[in-house]
Amino acid sequence: GYNLIIFFIISHLMSILGKLNPWNPSIPYEILSLNISSKLSTNSHAIKESSKDFGKIIQEILPAAVLYPSCVNDIIDLIQFSHDLSVPFHVAAKGHGHSIRGQAMAKNGVIVEMSSLNNNINNNENCGVRVSWDSGLGFYADVGGEQLWIDVLRSTLEYGLAPVSWTDYLYLTVGGTLSNAGISGQTFRYGPQISNVHEMDVITGKGELVTCSKDMNSELFFGVLGGLGQFGIITRARIVLDKAPTRVKWVRMLYDDFSKFTKDQEHLISIHHNGLDYVEGSLMMEQSSLNNWRSSFFSPSNQTEIASLLSKNKIMYCLEIVKYYDDQNANTIDEELKKLVKGLKYLGGFMFKKDVSFVEFLNRVRSGELELQSKGKWDVPHPWLNLFVPKSSIMHFHAAVFVDIILRQNKTAGPILVYPTSRKRWDDRMSTMIPEEETFYCVGLLHSSSGYKECKILDNQNEEILNYCDKVGLNIKQYLPHYKTKEDWIKHFGKKWNIFQQRKDLFDPKMILSPGQRIFN
Ligand code: FAD
Repeated sequence: GYNLIIFFIISHLMSILGKLNPWNPSIPYEILSLNISSKLSTNSHAIKESSKDFGKIIQEILPAAVLYPSCVNDIIDLIQFSHDLSVPFHVAAKGHGHSIRGQAMAKNGVIVEMSSLNNNINNNENCGVRVSWDSGLGFYADVGGEQLWIDVLRSTLEYGLAPVSWTDYLYLTVGGTLSNAGISGQTFRYGPQISNVHEMDVITGKGELVTCSKDMNSELFFGVLGGLGQFGIITRARIVLDKAPTRVKWVRMLYDDFSKFTKDQEHLISIHHNGLDYVEGSLMMEQSSLNNWRSSFFSPSNQTEIASLLSKNKIMYCLEIVKYYDDQNANTIDEELKKLVKGLKYLGGFMFKKDVSFVEFLNRVRSGELELQSKGKWDVPHPWLNLFVPKSSIMHFHAAVFVDIILRQNKTAGPILVYPTSRKRWDDRMSTMIPEEETFYCVGLLHSSSGYKECKILDNQNEEILNYCDKVGLNIKQYLPHYKTKEDWIKHFGKKWNIFQQRKDLFDPKMILSPGQRIFN
């Protein structure tokens, strides 16, 4: 009672002073009688900050308030409160806000700043990163959904261990990547990050905290993995660990022929015994820089050589591979690598090698990020398009999209990734949609634009690419999907739509969670 009156007076005064937004009527004042009231903010700065993301395309989707939870129970209280209302408000977990199109936003709802759990790690309820072993699972780590992968890496390395499946960039949260898939050059071998989770704690849209795994509450487990935040908020994930190598051999090879490039990639991911640990690849065009933000690799003299080749060929392909090693095989690693690249059809003389620590390799994108940040080029609009392209469509995709649309129109502004992976390492019971074919390509058009005008041009190009693929039936799937209509979502999920919808009815019947994905709202 008193709390409410005092808050009412203070918030009225603050809103007059412009420090707080006027109370948003979509959230009843009674929320202030909960224990979480002191952790809720309606401060204009907090509201604005919580509604920003890496994409910088969607703006002004403002929540009514931001919750800074200090423990898992705070999130439970919030969701239960909303769920019990006749007109509930939306709740979105915000991990590190590295979505492209407002996926972690919640108009007139409450954003849960997950990082706040990490600031209160001493609270017994919060998980942080805890390494354990048991005879059934081997080594594993229990990690909070709010944890950044870089912190998971640092903590597990203290035990000489590390997760096996990664993303290219490590400043993303565990909850954020598990809501999509989590892919990189290791995926062909170890599966995406969602294939390397034993168990999770999830707060459903009913405000219930549920532990789930393949054998326990499995419907929730499979739904949440790749589930775009629709079924619950991940507060703990039990992640597979393995012995961490100490160093890596990191190699790039250049090709002037896409067919040879992809055949070699496909060959490399098919080697099971003593094969590579990472296989990726990218396009090189004159207009995209050689050492882009994803990693600086080529020395100045390499760059001059490559630039002259590019001015002749216009488009080239860079195969990127890594083999891990440590003291035990330091003497044989060069020989092992030599065997693996034998017979590959890259351009003679265009193989470049590096030998770096495991951490330096995994965290390779960070230095590029810091450099762009210092030049004010990181915090710009990013009209990205990420696709999974079936192997049988990749040559067609190359000719029509890479050459006819991107190269001819001369509109590209950032790295373009192309690398194959195998369906075998994915579990179709999970929510992520992938093509039906056994082998498919991960394609990332990672554009950075100088401003909104260029962003629009690049986004129109993305639209053209999607329309083309649709028109000729290339059977692609969007990764980190974004659609404007429910019909598009139904098409995206195809035969999985019914189960996706049933799971929503089961775990978030009032459609409270992650409205920014725009699937059910
Ligand atoms: P947010 O943007 O904060 O949230 C994403 C979605 O997940 C939202 O709907 C949100 O509500 C929901 N969510 C957040 N936390 C939780 C939780 N704990 N439980 C349930 N739902 C939650 N992806 C790859 O697979 N491979 C890559 O190599 C890769 N590289 C990237 C590099 C950069 C520079 C960027 C910006 C993105 C990259 N991504 C990559 C994409 C990235 O994995 C996704 O955008 C991911 O969602 C970002 O995580 P986040 O913590 O920032 O999530």
